Amino acid sequence: QRRPLIAGNWKMNGLATAATSELKELVALAKDHTAPKCDILICPPATLVREMASAAENSSVQIGGQDCHANDSGAHTGDIAAEMLKDAGANYCIVGHSERRADHGESNAVVKAKAEAAHRGGLIAIVCVGETLAEREADKTLDVISDQVRNSLPNGATASNTVIAYEPVWAIGTGKTPTPLDVATVHAHIREELAALMSDSAQVRVLYGGSVKGSNAEELMAVENVDGALVGGASLKAADFWPIVATS
Ligand code: 13P
Repeated sequence: QRRPLIAGNWKMNGLATAATSELKELVALAKDHTAPKCDILICPPATLVREMASAAENSSVQIGGQDCHANDSGAHTGDIAAEMLKDAGANYCIVGHSERRADHGESNAVVKAKAEAAHRGGLIAIVCVGETLAEREADKTLDVISDQVRNSLPNGATASNTVIAYEPVWAIGTGKTPTPLDVATVHAHIREELAALMSDSAQVRVLYGGSVKGSNAEELMAVENVDGALVGGASLKAADFWPIVATS
């Protein structure tokens, strides 16, 4: 009963001309399929949010940010507030991506504060969690996931304002993916954690991310408790992203 979400994270890629043509191609594909069975989202770099939102207007493709500041406004040079993303046409915001946790030292507490800021700004927060290779090899995966879910989940999280994305760090951009059984184990574990934290946890979407592409999407999306994908590299071109959308 959970509607899948297939989300593209463009990361630090995209210049206006080429990006607009890819987005328009995606919009055209979505329009040809009158009733997509999933929600479709693209999270471009902040510089392109307004332009991509305008290119996606009146279509089933939604636009999101990749990060927001924990505060609503003020003296935070270089940062972007959730309300600004909303103002530019975004409906979603990714928070706590492992690249931000690593590159910018974002702790669970920071991620939680950012997710709460996203909610105040009227955005659905996509909260990312995932273990490193060292943590997996030390058999700490489920402990790390528990810690991240418990401590990054925003206060006031509901199934309508929050999505969880499980992205094993070692699977991002490497072409490696966990086995379907490993994905199922982590997703079931996330669902168990959410049940203790939210009253409508059964409705929350939990995405898988990390080297999702057209050739493995069907197998990964069929795993129990996987409600969609967060896609990096394969979301940059409409022709690569659409086959992933089409699996749901
Ligand atoms: P790739 O799909 O390129 O592995 O990236 C996954 C990711 O980090 C999406 O947020």
